[in-house]
Formats: sequence, structure tokens, C-alpha cells
Amino acid sequence: MMDLSGYFMLRLVLLGRPGAGKGTQSEFISESFNTPKLVMSGLLKEEVNEGSSLGEIIRSYMEEGKLVPDKIVYQVLQKNIMEVVGKGFILDGFPRNLKQAEWLDNFLKSNEIELSAAIYFDVDELTVLRRIMGRLICESCGRAYNIFYDPPLDIRKCECGGKLYQRKDDCYEKILRRLNIFNEETLSLVEYYKRKGLLLSIDASKDIKTVKEETFSTISALLS
Ligand SMILES: [Zn+2]
Repeated sequence: MMDLSGYFMLRLVLLGRPGAGKGTQSEFISESFNTPKLVMSGLLKEEVNEGSSLGEIIRSYMEEGKLVPDKIVYQVLQKNIMEVVGKGFILDGFPRNLKQAEWLDNFLKSNEIELSAAIYFDVDELTVLRRIMGRLICESCGRAYNIFYDPPLDIRKCECGGKLYQRKDDCYEKILRRLNIFNEETLSLVEYYKRKGLLLSIDASKDIKTVKEETFSTISALLS
């Protein structure tokens, strides 16, 4: 794909339920449109690894299994956005609620930066359950299967002979908890960005390739 960053900068917010494929699609967008991707959880971990004083504070929250306070999240994000500001950005995992979205608006506004769009990867809860609960991973080679969409020939083992297992986080209770948090806190952002005229909705219940094509044509339309 042509490098368009010279005359148009993409500044995206990505929204979607867990299991919507947001992370995968953000990789595709980042690569093809030459735009840095800022994954909130990754930024916090990086800060911890750098061992800065801010990183030490974050580490202490993480070690206690607590949520990192917004004030600290904002500092990390602010620093990272300003580092890539000339290249645009793709925000993944932020904002998660209305308060954070309002903070982002104010921060961008005070730096005369405008969002290009908020892309919502729309997928229903049942599809999310199938995708996540159906996941089986090979102990030896790491290959991921899905018992509904991409089943192994033998449900007990991978083609390589390795044992298959389900990740602890892929159980019903944990998925449900994440879905509930999304519904209670993040779903309202869809309406929020719609009101601002920034929302682009993608049907994310389709397969990865189709979603990728839809996403790319939506973004290309933004650029033209
Ligand atoms: Zn294997």
C-alpha cells in the first residue's frame, strides 16, 4: 500500500467487545497505513519495563492486581501520543469509558489534534463466546484451533502431536465478566462517537479476511 502518511494522518480510536478481533485488525491497519498503534496495556507494560519512576508506580498496582488509576494512564498515553504525533496513531484499549473519552477529547483539542474516526468492530455476544470458548491451543507448537470454526482432526491433539488445552481466561465466567464490563462502561462510547459524527461501524462477526477488507475500504474512504 502507498504511504499516505505524508498528506493524511490517521488518528483512530478502535472499539469492540473482547473477541471482536480488534487487536488483529489494528495490526493490519498499522502495517498497511503506516500508522503507529498504541495499545494501552502494552504501553503500561513498556513503562514498567523501562523502570521509570512512573513505571514503578504502575508495577505496584499491577502486582496487587489493581487497576492502574486514570491519572497515571493519562500520563503514559499523553507521552506516547506526543512521541508519534507526526505520524498519526491507532488507539487500542483506550478510552474504555466516558470519562476517559472526555479526557482524550480535551487533551487532543488542547494540542489542536483531531480524531479521524472511531471504528467500532461490532460483534454479538454469542459470536464472542464461540470464538473465545471454542479456542484450543497446542502445548507444543502454539497453534490455535477453534472447535466451531477450525476444529482439529482429533480433539485431543494437534497435527504436530502436541496436547491441546484451553486457556484459563477462556472460560465462561471470565468472558462474561469482560463482556459485562464492556456493556456497562464501553458500549456507551459507540453512541458518544456517533453523536460526534466520528463513528464507523464494521460488521466484525464475519471472518478475519472479510473484516479486514471492509475495514480497509472504510479507511480508504476516509482518506479520499
Ligand atoms: Zn501443535
